[in-house]
Amino acid sequence: MTRRFCVRCGRRGEKLIGALCPECYVEREVKVELPRQLRGYVCRECRAMLKRGRWERRAESLEEAVEEAGFSAIEENLRVRGLSQPEVGIAFLEARRSSPRDYTARYRLEVRGGAGGEEVELSREVEAGVRLTLCESCQRRASRYYEAVLQIRAHAPLTKEEREELSRLVRSEVERRSEDKAFISSYEERREGVDFYLGSAKLAKKIANLLVARYGGTVTTSTKLVGVDESGRNVLRYTFAYRLPRVRRGDVIRLGDRVCQVLRLSRGSVSLLDLATRRSFSLPEKKLAKAELLGSAEDAVRAMVTEVVKDRIQVLEFRDYKTFYFDIPLPLRVGDEVRLLKAEGRVYLLATHLEE
Ligand SMILES: [Zn+2]
Ligand SMILES: [Zn+2]
Repeated sequence: MTRRFCVRCGRRGEKLIGALCPECYVEREVKVELPRQLRGYVCRECRAMLKRGRWERRAESLEEAVEEAGFSAIEENLRVRGLSQPEVGIAFLEARRSSPRDYTARYRLEVRGGAGGEEVELSREVEAGVRLTLCESCQRRASRYYEAVLQIRAHAPLTKEEREELSRLVRSEVERRSEDKAFISSYEERREGVDFYLGSAKLAKKIANLLVARYGGTVTTSTKLVGVDESGRNVLRYTFAYRLPRVRRGDVIRLGDRVCQVLRLSRGSVSLLDLATRRSFSLPEKKLAKAELLGSAEDAVRAMVTEVVKDRIQVLEFRDYKTFYFDIPLPLRVGDEVRLLKAEGRVYLLATHLEE
């Protein structure tokens, strides 16, 4: 009878790989190789991670970015020798800050594979350094790189609300995108409007078009040659000047002999409500060039319907507690809230909830 035993540790066993027991085989023959200095990179500004030489995906949190970056560093550098068809599982254990710009992240590797017809496995703890740095995109931003200026203007100075709303829209559009140059490199408040300096001309154009789609108005584009790059190509700087339409949502205007309220604006077209006939209609925005502004929704006074008799509506306004009557065939009810606008010595009932 032949006794089988491990030539290294002497242990007897059924399962031998060559002349070694699985434990000794793993210890002597299986090599999990990683460079001594394993390092991942995370952008400290936007939490992008460097993966195979490219900056990718912005993580939800810095912790997640550090974990992912260390994981990538291991995955890209790990070599397993001595096993056929090795499978590697990498489990994150913890990360701690080791300097103001460095983290050390620990992982457990679970390696499994075949050797001499047997399946062997081993586990090992490894550490990866993760350095906080700036990604290409944030570096450009830090150096105030920009390709385009998006100017936001109006025919009258922008109101505080308009400034805020439009700026919010620009910022959220920039943030939503993950391309390299999707950033605002600077921002200037001017008396006449707001200027955004954007990393990407393509994105600036998209946002300008989005503004037109949402608020009406126009965009004019101009370019300026600012230099030549290393490959001899002209470097252009773009200006997209977005101008809000002459009228805004809620404005009351005189158009010939009609008095109308602006209900909506989009892509060069305006929806209006004739405040006398209560009919709504649309016009190309250009047709408003001669319109006269009588007032805007901000000047309106709140009021309440206090009586409805046939087509005559009685309304009590909340500022001076005066009563007004309108002969308008609208199915309003007592208690409904409405808004009134005084202009040129007359009082207008603005679009009600039934008409907006
Ligand atoms: Zn052994
Ligand atoms: Zn970044």
